[in-house]
Amino acid sequence: MAIWKQVMAGLVLAFTVVFVADVSEAVQARLQVIHAGTLLAEPGKPALSPATLVISGAKVARVEEGLLSPSELGLAANTPVLDLRQQFVMPGFIDLHVHLSMLTGSRGRDLEVRKPDAYFALIGADNARKTLQAGFTTVRDLGSRGMAIFALRDAIVDGLVPGPKILVAGSAITPSGGHADFHGYRQEVLDALPATGVCNGADDCRRAVRETVKRGADVVKVTATGGVLSNTNAGTGMQFTQAELDAIAETAHALGRKVTAHAHDKPGIEAALAAGFDSVEHAMWADEATMRLFKKHDAWLIPTIYPITYVGDTPEKMRAGPFKDLPPASMEKLLRLGKQPKKMTALAYKMGVNIALGTDSGVSPNGDNAHEFLEYVGIGMTPEEALAAGTVKAAEAGGIDDAGKLTPGMAADIVAMRGNPLEDISAVLDLAFIMRDGIIFKQEVRGQ
Ligand SMILES: [Zn+2]
Repeated sequence: MAIWKQVMAGLVLAFTVVFVADVSEAVQARLQVIHAGTLLAEPGKPALSPATLVISGAKVARVEEGLLSPSELGLAANTPVLDLRQQFVMPGFIDLHVHLSMLTGSRGRDLEVRKPDAYFALIGADNARKTLQAGFTTVRDLGSRGMAIFALRDAIVDGLVPGPKILVAGSAITPSGGHADFHGYRQEVLDALPATGVCNGADDCRRAVRETVKRGADVVKVTATGGVLSNTNAGTGMQFTQAELDAIAETAHALGRKVTAHAHDKPGIEAALAAGFDSVEHAMWADEATMRLFKKHDAWLIPTIYPITYVGDTPEKMRAGPFKDLPPASMEKLLRLGKQPKKMTALAYKMGVNIALGTDSGVSPNGDNAHEFLEYVGIGMTPEEALAAGTVKAAEAGGIDDAGKLTPGMAADIVAMRGNPLEDISAVLDLAFIMRDGIIFKQEVRGQ
């Protein structure tokens, strides 16, 4: 099966979008040359203008300054050359917090008790395609019920459907009645729903972590505090005890997994940091003392600003926005947030906390992920720093060894755009070229 087509010369503007990836041996050995107008191989370090990349199968083989032909590179003269001389080329983006099998807004509510697992695999496939088309070549899915998300991860690797590489958490680890447990149904329904990931007490939580890893989790997600969208009036305070969080972190690390906490209120964030969690998601009510703990424990903050901008960052906008139909218990929690995500992230940035990009897409639409870059520039980061948060730093925070930069041996995960994001960060919203593991998923070519 041909995995990419040469765009015919003479077209003014053409799109090639490839939906199915060929993972045959022939493809894995294929050489490709990319001519980049500007290459930001490693965000945070200087860009090269122009530059040449050699891709061997799914990996970056060489990075050279200037534009070199296949013969100048010592390759066969007929090695394909991708002309990105009019474009800004950089590593594919990484989002450490998505929910691919979630539908945004009131459409998604209660689906989990009405639809079979297979339905979520199909939602996930649709959202995976949108996410890849937004330039995100690796994501971490932090919470999906059932087994659909594991199947989606594997189907993408096998080339059956297009999408980013996914690190999967599966069901989040949660206490009974916690954020990731079921809420808001009559007791007979609650009794019938599975309690996957639910645990109480340190030993029981060790069991839950072991089981989630046994199910195939690449990363362990823990709801250390209450959350906004669960239909309960139990607030967003700490819900696991320190002893439970300690046991969870220790077990996850013993099994070679990163462990990350969903946490809103300060005591829950601080307890997760004290337990040795690798990162904290949201961290809405972290203050200066909390930021010092992030630094002391060398932990990562994953701020998720954009969903609150999307949902509405004032009470008026929240009451009129896409979540206007939230149940009262959730609406009350949402109304507390407002500008807090931005204020908290600005404080973390000012204090030098390690920040990696996460969006909580699923709350905001999957495929809108790149808006988070704009939020980071909005709170004071330079464009270089924002781009690093969604590439090299996200790779480091997520323990993803082969992505986030384009140096020899790294995955050939590449995006290109017409604008220069170092001058105007909104260039990340308009991509002309997307490659994942050496396979082209979008190519826009301007002909004569
Ligand atoms: Zn989330």
